[in-house]
Amino acid sequence: MENYEYLAGSTRPPFTLAEIILFLTVIYLFMGTGGNWQILLAVLLLIYWFALMAGKLWPPPKFDFPATPLVRKNSTPNAPTKANFVWSPEYKVGFWWHFPPVKKYVLIHHRAIEEKILTEDDFIKPTPLRDQDLALVHGRGYLWRLYLLSITPLGFLNGENPISFKILKKLKIACGGTYLACKIALEQQIGMNLGGGFHHAFACHEEGFCHLNDMSIAIRKLQTERLINRAMIIDCDVHQGNGTASIFESDKTVFTFSIHQDDLYPYPKQYSNYDISLLRNQRVDDKRYLEELKVLPTLIQEHRPDLIIYLAGADPFQYDRLGGFLLTKQGLMDRDAYVLRVCADIDIPTAIVLGGGYASNIDDIVEIHLNTIRVVHKLLKGDV
Ligand SMILES: [Zn+2]
Repeated sequence: MENYEYLAGSTRPPFTLAEIILFLTVIYLFMGTGGNWQILLAVLLLIYWFALMAGKLWPPPKFDFPATPLVRKNSTPNAPTKANFVWSPEYKVGFWWHFPPVKKYVLIHHRAIEEKILTEDDFIKPTPLRDQDLALVHGRGYLWRLYLLSITPLGFLNGENPISFKILKKLKIACGGTYLACKIALEQQIGMNLGGGFHHAFACHEEGFCHLNDMSIAIRKLQTERLINRAMIIDCDVHQGNGTASIFESDKTVFTFSIHQDDLYPYPKQYSNYDISLLRNQRVDDKRYLEELKVLPTLIQEHRPDLIIYLAGADPFQYDRLGGFLLTKQGLMDRDAYVLRVCADIDIPTAIVLGGGYASNIDDIVEIHLNTIRVVHKLLKGDV
């Protein structure tokens, strides 16, 4: 809890390139000398522009906590599954030119099988969540905005968060994946989605390569279904989980924890329930990072969640292109083992999601995520 640096204003531009181009097109059409069709087109595009802008301003939904009691764990409608790992081949969908390495999702699955860490029987495929599930967290206007962008070429130009129809579908599947991992955790103590962790998505806007906040949606859906009352998010990505912190800012049932680099996107930071903000020049190595995590048992004991979601980001890695921490692969594996051991010792069902990873060598990213799988696998066998 030191060296906080909360900046006064956001460095995010208010408009995306798509919105600017669309607006300039409208102006051009209105100023042109064409016939009625030109005016008609301009009016239609202007309506479309307002729809995109309104999506950002539409208020987030108010979550009404159900008054009915919790459903007992052993009476959940879905039969328990032996598979603890959730993955979909759709996770690889993305723009080839976009920065986040979506190829990692295929490689992780492939290597987990190839290296005999897991078998195909260990995996279960998620189904996409419905819009009404997404609307437990995201504004209806924002969901419309994503849909509108996804069906036109303007989705390509949506700042650092381009979107297409196929990507939107994949994101809904990834949300389904995190929800499913949580359900598995509730039934079998531990579940892992080999995807998800989109912690920069806010209720009414996208940012930081994140459109839909899968962890928040999963928690809200489980609360609505009365499978959990309280939840906790342990966010160990090198970037602060600003979207998640914002969504649960005034919600006492969900405790948000984030350990991140302070002099790094996002600016400004949001207030999690517990933030550990460290600077690049503090040279955060394995030892320092693990030392900081020692607060976790106390926080978990105090909040007593029914479910923990652990975001095992790969970007605190020493060779990450975005982050400035100095953790080694072994250090990150020790982090995973420590966090998951603590959760298991306090007997809290835990779902794991992947989060970011941007090392120039994709094999490093894959190896770090595979190490998380190794730790989970060992934990399931009782070896950690
Ligand atoms: Zn990150």
